[in-house]
This record gives sequence, structure tokens and C-alpha cells, in this order.
Amino acid sequence: MVRFLQLLAFAWLAARVAELDAMTLASVIGRLKMWAVSMVQRAASHVRKGTVQPSKPWERFHYLAVTYHKSGVYLMVTLWEKIFNALGTTLDDTGMWRTPPCYTLEMCWHPAAPVRCWIDMFSPELRDKEEAATGPVLIAGTVRDPLEMVVSAYCYHHRGKEVVGNMMFWPPGSVAALGPKKGVAFVAERMTQLVENMTAAFEFPRNDTHRVSYEKITRSSEDFDKQVKGLLKFWFDGLISPEEHQRALEAARLVDMHRHPEAAPEDHANDAECMNQARKAVFAMPIQLLARYRAFQRSTITITAAAAAAAAAAAIIRLNLSDQHIACSIASCGKSQAMSLRLDELRRALPRHLQERLRSLGRSDVSSTGPIVYWMRSCLRGHENPALDVAIHASAALKVGLVVFLHIEDQYPHATARRQLFLLQGARSAQEELLQRGLSHVVVHVDRHGNRGVHRMLMPKAQLVVAEEPFCVPWLRGIEELRHMGGPLWLVDCASVVPCALVPQAACHRAYAFERATEALHQQLAPRHWHEVQPEGEANAPLGWVLPQSIDLKSQHLEALVKDMDVDQSVAPVSHTCGGSSEGYARWQAWVNAGGLKTYAKRRNESLDVHGVSRMSAFLNTGMVSPMRIARLAFAASGAGKGKFLNEFLTWRGLSYAHFYHFSMPATGATLAQLPSWAQQTLLQHAGDQRKVIPVEQLRAARSGNAAWDGMQRYLVETGELHNNARMGWGKAVLKWTDSPQAAIDVLIELNNVFALDGHAPPSYGGLLGCLGLFEGPKQESAVVGKVSYKPPKSKYAAMPEVARELLKCDVQVGGIARYFETPTADHAVGEAAPKRRWTRKLESEVRAPLIEID
Ligand SMILES: Cc1cc2nc3c(=O)[nH]c(=O)nc-3n(C[C@H](O)[C@H](O)[C@H](O)COP(=O)(O)OP(=O)(O)OC[C@H]3O[C@@H](n4cnc5c(N)ncnc54)[C@H](O)[C@@H]3O)c2cc1C
Repeated sequence: MVRFLQLLAFAWLAARVAELDAMTLASVIGRLKMWAVSMVQRAASHVRKGTVQPSKPWERFHYLAVTYHKSGVYLMVTLWEKIFNALGTTLDDTGMWRTPPCYTLEMCWHPAAPVRCWIDMFSPELRDKEEAATGPVLIAGTVRDPLEMVVSAYCYHHRGKEVVGNMMFWPPGSVAALGPKKGVAFVAERMTQLVENMTAAFEFPRNDTHRVSYEKITRSSEDFDKQVKGLLKFWFDGLISPEEHQRALEAARLVDMHRHPEAAPEDHANDAECMNQARKAVFAMPIQLLARYRAFQRSTITITAAAAAAAAAAAIIRLNLSDQHIACSIASCGKSQAMSLRLDELRRALPRHLQERLRSLGRSDVSSTGPIVYWMRSCLRGHENPALDVAIHASAALKVGLVVFLHIEDQYPHATARRQLFLLQGARSAQEELLQRGLSHVVVHVDRHGNRGVHRMLMPKAQLVVAEEPFCVPWLRGIEELRHMGGPLWLVDCASVVPCALVPQAACHRAYAFERATEALHQQLAPRHWHEVQPEGEANAPLGWVLPQSIDLKSQHLEALVKDMDVDQSVAPVSHTCGGSSEGYARWQAWVNAGGLKTYAKRRNESLDVHGVSRMSAFLNTGMVSPMRIARLAFAASGAGKGKFLNEFLTWRGLSYAHFYHFSMPATGATLAQLPSWAQQTLLQHAGDQRKVIPVEQLRAARSGNAAWDGMQRYLVETGELHNNARMGWGKAVLKWTDSPQAAIDVLIELNNVFALDGHAPPSYGGLLGCLGLFEGPKQESAVVGKVSYKPPKSKYAAMPEVARELLKCDVQVGGIARYFETPTADHAVGEAAPKRRWTRKLESEVRAPLIEID
């Protein structure tokens, strides 16, 4: 009787599926007959949970096939049924559920079965509940372009395919009465939650989640096979015999409409004319709704690479689950299993927030037994450091030691004593942090006379080198060198809030496009806390050889080290800004406490108002503070200036990083080719225009003859800083004083990178090339600059040296105070809780000089 009711229930459900996707009743009955026959045939041989060794995959794992209205419901349900049927499931093993609340009991049956199909209801929250109740589940689902789902749903329901009604979305008949404009918007609005669930679950599929692309599986038989093979690998790799695999594949092929057009449900295809009209009507949707769907769309597009990785990652999970029946983090995989992993499998098993920051170059196999080496160069911090976390994971998974090679280089273009001291101060604080994190193989190396090239001896010993994404000069050269060495190399984006790899290349030319493309991701990622990974014993495992000598920067005279370096010693360090993480967070905190974030929108455009802006760029560009943390803190703050600050910080900064990630400059330096083609053309067309050429030495010495420009240049030379608003006029003037567009680029880079403490970073090149048309469109044509916009420096900037004196005076005090701040602790992360009490106490007891207003 129970069986009979279940069969009835399945018939009812299949009819509902048929109603959803226009499958005919005849095909439902046919399918049911096949199902029933196969059940009987297999019942005798079937083994369910007992004391004997599990012999079927679903005796080891739970399986979930999930699908959403118009993402391929018919397809997924039939695939699920055919594949598991072919492998011998019985009715006892299978269950189905649809959209809570379950309207009728017949629609939902056997909720605890090990092999289930869910329609319209899967979400990350439900997955978590499910996992808590049943243990690990291998989930596969169909995903389709969300706007195509809406268009298809509109046309389908508009032609009256709502016999029983789509109870969860709208009352029967309502869509049939609406024309495309209203109808598409109506359908989109009602399907939002469902699409959001789909996107959230499959945007960055976890390694227990696999995406089946609707677009691909319906494109051709070849693509169908690829998708099905991917699905079978994900679900059953190592769990079924080759014969069973072949049987499942053959059974699945019956669902391929290209091979079996007769299997397609009747009346399935929408009218092409309706689809065309509905696609056009998408653009008439309310702007907010369309923006939401665009964000969904981007998310479903960006997932492709990650989705392809899921099958391999699942193999790792299965490897462990099948023996231990518990989910295994990569860190706890057994040694022999781990050693046999290829690096790309290991990479796919990393946590999502690291995986999406990682680019793999060089070989992908693990061929030596050497350590993991993290080459720390431009991300000088021991916290919230994605490259370090990746290296720790890799060391744990491969059960080998981790060497952190903290390297301060010299002999790069425009290296100065000013910058080197700042970097060394940052390195000193990073060294301390690394030791506090429990890492013992930390080698600090400072390039200087007679002491260079150590990295070239160390790197070949590594079985994997992890380095920071280089983005621009001077970091590119070292990465090129490493690539020539040929070993496995992972580059990790440590600088972006939204990882550059997730930003579409096409959105990296203009700020508005970048902002739009990343809006949803920023909303999602900016508030997110960083989950630090703790190094385990493996990281400090003996290496079996002697590491290069390390410098203890705490006990070193940093100025003396700088003197020994091959850098421009004529550009003296600035005393008002001291490098290091706690210095950076202290500056941030002081600025926020002083109301800087609140008044940012009002004050940020006034270049003479030194403390109207955060002055964080040098700390950010050298990785001494975490951009993720600054984003998080700003996001959590309130006040009028917050939005504007986030716009500058997330959009303009993010754009620079994403641009140079996707459009790499040569390791030898930026050229005219880094500009948009309209800018290249117009500048070359005007290259012969008459102009006053001023030698670079004169410009360096602030002797252009233009009082405003010279004022800015002196300010830059003296302080190592220049306000954003002044910078554009400063840069554009140089374009008129150099004898060619390429010379303008070279001189600008020299002036900026030699003197600015925040130089040598993507925002530097973004700003400098921005003076020549990058991130802009063509404007009114004029001599020399062509169609590149031009604004002369404002005359008030002649007074900037006066401001400089004020800045230096104030900052000596702020810098003094900053050094008293403590490093983050569990309950008080630097910069996250207002350290007002401690700050005041230090002010009173430690600081003698007159104080600036800080609160
Ligand atoms: C010709 C020229 C040269 C520049 N050179 C550099 C440089 O060498 N290094 C550098 O970091 N920035 C450079 N910029 C961008 C910008 O001027 C600085 O980022 C900003 O002045 C840093 O000051 P702040 O930290 O007080 O910024 P705030 O106004 O407090 O902004 C906070 C953060 O947002 C980011 N940010 C703000 N404005 C921009 C922007 N326009 N582009 C990119 N990021 C931004 C920075 O990380 C900054 O620290 C340049 C701009 C121009 C026009």
C-alpha cells in the first residue's frame, strides 16, 4: 500500500514537473513504467544499510539533485532518475521535495532518502541544515542565465501553461494577461528569491557542490556528454566500476534532445517571437530590479571556472569521506593521499576566499619534496595576508615545512632611501607578526652591497613558491625571473577587496563600469571578516637543510641598512611617517577619531586641508595594512562621508588594481601602449606641437617657473605626499613640458615614484596614466594634449610648502603617538575598537610636544 501511494505520489509529482516544463502526460507514464520495471528488476539485488560493507555510492553519501524553475527542471529530474536508476536505486533510496511549504504531501516524499531531488527550494541555508541532519551531501544542480530564466518563464506562462498554477510565484492566469513589458518585470520580481538562492548556492560552489550548466548541456551532444561526464565524476569518481559508469552515461544520453528529439517533452519550446520580445522587455524593467538581475547574471557567469574545479575538489573530499565519514579540511588529509595530489586539486580544495585570489603559473605537479616558500615582498603584514594563508594551507596539505622569505629589494627603478626606510620599518613589524603567529622558518633578507641574489638560491629548492600578484613595476621583474625557473608558482592577489580575477576585464576601463560591475560583490565582500588560518605543526617541520641567514630587524639600525643599499640616497626619509602595520592602523584610527570619515565628502577636495583625507595610501600600497580591514571598518562606520570614501577607496583604488591585473604592463615599465587607443592616437597626432620642454632635473627641483606647480612639487619632495586633487593638475602640466608622450610618462613616473611614499603601485600608475587619458574619454581637442582633458594647476597651490610645514609639525606628534599602539589582539583588533582611553593616557604621559585635536 505504501509503495502504491509512493508511486501515485511520484506520478503526481512527475505531472507537476510536466506542467512546469510542458512534458506530456504520455511521457510521464512512459517514464513511470520504466521506473517501476527497473525497481522490480533491481529490488532483489539491492543491499541497503546493514552491517555489510557499503557497496553502493548512496550507502556512503547522500546525493542531492537540485533544480529551479526554468533552469532545466525536466532535464535535471530525468537525468537524476536515469542515472540513479541505471546504478540500481530502489524507490526506498529515492525521495523528492519541492518548494517549502510543501503544498500537498503527494508532492513531497521520502525526505530522508539518500538520493533526492529538490525543485525550487535549494539554498545555502537549507544545505547547512541538511548537512547537519544527514552528514555530507554531494549536491549537483542546474544553473542557467537568470535573465533567460525570466524570459523563458514569461513566455511559457504567457501562453497559458499554468494549468495548476505556479503556486509559489503567482496566481494562475496572471502572466497570461500581461504584455511583455509588464509581464517580464512581474515574473522577474516574483522569481527574485529563487534566482538569489540559485546564485548564492552556485556562485562559488563549495567543493561538495557541482554546477551543471543549462546552456552547455543543451548546446550539442558533445557538450551534453562533457557535462554529464563532469557530473558523474563529481558524484561517483572512484565509487563505481567502469561498467556502471558506462551504463549511467548511456542512460543519461537518453535525455539528450539532440540525440533523441522524440524524448523532448511536447510543446516544450517557447515561441521565438515571444522570446525576442521578452528579451527586449528586460531593458524596460525597473532599474533596481534589472541591476539586481545583472548582478545575478554576473555571479552566474563568474562561477564557471570555480564550478569546473568542483569535481576535482569533491574527489579530495570523497577520498577522505569514504574512509572516515567526516568532512576533511585540506589541512587534515593524510600524508600519502596528500602527496599524490596534483597542485591544481590542492588549489581547488582551498577555501573559496583564497581560491578566488589565486593564479597558478608554471608546473602543476608536485615533483620535489622541498618546502613551500612564500616570497613576501609587497604585502608586508602577517595578518589578513591571503598569500601567507595560501602557503600555510599548502604546507599543511603537503605535510612540508613553510619558509617565509621576507625580502626587501634594492636596485629597482626609482628606489630611494626614503622608500627603503619605510619598507624596512614595515618589514620589521611584519617579521614580529610572523613570529607571533608561530612560524619559525622566517628568513628576512635585505638586498644590499655584496648581499643579493639569495632568493635565486632558495626558490629552486621549493616544491611550490607562493608570491603576491605583482600588478606593476617593480614587482613584475622578480615574477618573470621565477617563471623562468620553471617550478610551480602560485600568485595571490593580496591587494584587492574584490579579487581582481572576479572583475570582468571589460569593466576595467572606466570607473563607472567598474563600480557597476563590482557593486554587488563589494556589498558582499567588504563587510566580511577575514578568517585567519592557524599554522599547524607542518609549517615548522624540519627542512633537512640550512636556511639562508636571516636578519633580526628589531635589533638592526635600519638607517644603516639603507645606507648600504643601491638606491637614490639623495631622497631622504620623511620623519613624520613611520612604516609598519600598527603605525598604519593608528593613523587610520586617529583620522576616524578626529571625524575624518564623517567629514570626508566635504573636505576631501581641498588640497590645503591636509587632514581632510586619510593619508593611508602608503600603508595600503605596501600591504602594511589590510585593504579588507579598512573596507570592513569603513563599511561598518556611519556618517555623511562614508559613501564618498568607499567610492574613492573601493572604486578608484579597485579599478587601478583590476586594470593592471587584466592589462599587464611590461616588466620594464609603462609605455604609451597602456593608454586607450584614442589617447595614444591623439597624443601621437599632437606629438609635433610646439611646447616648452623643461628638463626633468629642473622639474625634480621644483623649478618649472610655474609657482603653483613648483609649490606642489616642493610639497611632494618635502613630505613624500601629494593630495589627490592637486595631483591631477600637477601631472597634466608635465604632459605639456615634455618632448613626447612617452617622455611624459617616463618623467611622471620618475617624479612620482622617486618622491611619493605611496609610489610604485597600481594607483600610482592609474593616476599618472590618468593624466594622459587612462580611465577617461576624449574631450575637446587642444594643442599638445590633443583630446586628453587638461586643467592647469590652481594658483593657490603655490602656498603648499607652508602647508607642508604644518603637516610635518603635526605628524611628528601623530607618528610619536602611533608607535605606542599595540598590535591586534583577539578582543581588540587595532583600528576596530576605539582606543580612545588608551590613546588619551599615552598622550598625557608620553607626548611632550603640543597636541593636535584628535577627538
Ligand atoms: C597624478 C597622480 C598620481 C597619483 N599617484 C598615486 C600614487 O603614487 N599612489 C597612490 O596610492 N595613489 C596615487 N594617486 C591617487 C590618489 O591621488 C591617492 O591615492 C590619494 O591621494 C592618496 O591619499 P589618501 O590616502 O589621503 O586618500 P584618501 O582620499 O583618504 O582615500 C583613501 C584611499 O583610497 C584610495 N584612493 C583614493 N583616491 C584614489 C585614486 N584617485 N586612485 C586610486 N586610489 C585612490 C587610496 O588607496 C587612498 O589611500 C595619484 C593620482 C594622480 C592624479
